[in-house]
Amino acid sequence: MDRRTFLKRLGIGSAGVVGVSAPIGTYAAGHHFGESQAAGNFSASVVAGERHGRANLWWSVEAGQKVLALTFDDGPTAQFTAKVLDVLDTYHVPASFFLIGEMVNRRPDDVRRSIEAGHEVANHTFDHLSASIQTPDEIRRTMERGADAVADVLGHRPRWFRPVKGHITGAVLNSAAELHHDIAVWAYGRGPVAGSPGVLADNDVAGVRNYMIDNVFDGAIVILHDGIGRSAWEWSGPDEQLVTQRTAEVEALPAVIERYLADGYEFVTITKLIDGYGPATS
Ligand SMILES: [Zn+2]
Repeated sequence: MDRRTFLKRLGIGSAGVVGVSAPIGTYAAGHHFGESQAAGNFSASVVAGERHGRANLWWSVEAGQKVLALTFDDGPTAQFTAKVLDVLDTYHVPASFFLIGEMVNRRPDDVRRSIEAGHEVANHTFDHLSASIQTPDEIRRTMERGADAVADVLGHRPRWFRPVKGHITGAVLNSAAELHHDIAVWAYGRGPVAGSPGVLADNDVAGVRNYMIDNVFDGAIVILHDGIGRSAWEWSGPDEQLVTQRTAEVEALPAVIERYLADGYEFVTITKLIDGYGPATS
């Protein structure tokens, strides 16, 4: 999929972003980006209205060498964040954490620990609701509150934003541009999601490990989780299926990192991956 096609599928057209309100999650799912990357395309850049500037969207770069960015979504949580940080410490690898603002407010010490360990922290909305069910005002508000929650710990708003479930609408792009966020989605994660061929059992640690080893490529942004989404604090409590899936990801993590290191991969933050290995975007 070339850039024009990508923008067209977003419903945007090549001239800029205007009033896209329909959810486009089908195209935002990580494995679609992975396929398009294989054809040599790795980013989209959109002009989000002449007044508001521009938001760049990334899922990988053509790095030309063995480098990748591990990312963790939906934290911080009591269940997973410390475990993930311990594993990253053990192997001395940096990662990037896409944080939910509500959880940042509840567990700022976990965020401090991440920052002090050299990891990058980023915005994954305040309330972890999909943009596909929010109005443009709600999208803008949750993005801004998420950025401010991170800023309370980090000292400034983070550069990076990741939309919930990868759902991107015109309002997401516009708000990202207004807030000077770049958008990072992902190239691959734990494996095929429910409803896709080859879907893994929720607790299949070996399956997750093998999928992640088989699908690695230079310049990839990789998605994992140290949280369980909105159910961490609302609705009927943690979604047990997600807890099982996240547990399998975290249990697979050491073996995945070991293999990547053995294969010569360098781990970098999102900022280092994009600024160090991506094409210039300005
Ligand atoms: Zn999420």
